[in-house]
Amino acid sequence: MTRDPSQSSRRRFIKISTAALAAAPFAGVLLTKAAEAAEALSESDPTASALGYKMDATKAPNRKDKTSVCGNCSLYSGKPGATDGPCSIFGGKLVSAKGWCSAWVKKA
Ligand code: SF4
Repeated sequence: MTRDPSQSSRRRFIKISTAALAAAPFAGVLLTKAAEAAEALSESDPTASALGYKMDATKAPNRKDKTSVCGNCSLYSGKPGATDGPCSIFGGKLVSAKGWCSAWVKKA
């Protein structure tokens, strides 16, 4: 007994379509999470404000170590040379590599 190739193809199409429909809501969640992670941290964010975050470290009045910036903080995970990158204490929001806040910890 031989199978009709068009029926096999139709079954495969239905399986793929069903899987795609089932996965669609999760794709939206993943895209939303990615967008949240790429959001820039605002100086007016309540936590950022409490920690004295400034996008320009030279404008942070509580900064004592003049070499300290987000780019050399252990909580910063931006790529070398990038203008900004994620900060772990702000849930991965982007901070300026030349920024600073009072939670700064020297990168080892
Ligand atoms: S914890 Fe570090 S990387 Fe994050 S904002 Fe403060 S100084 Fe910048």
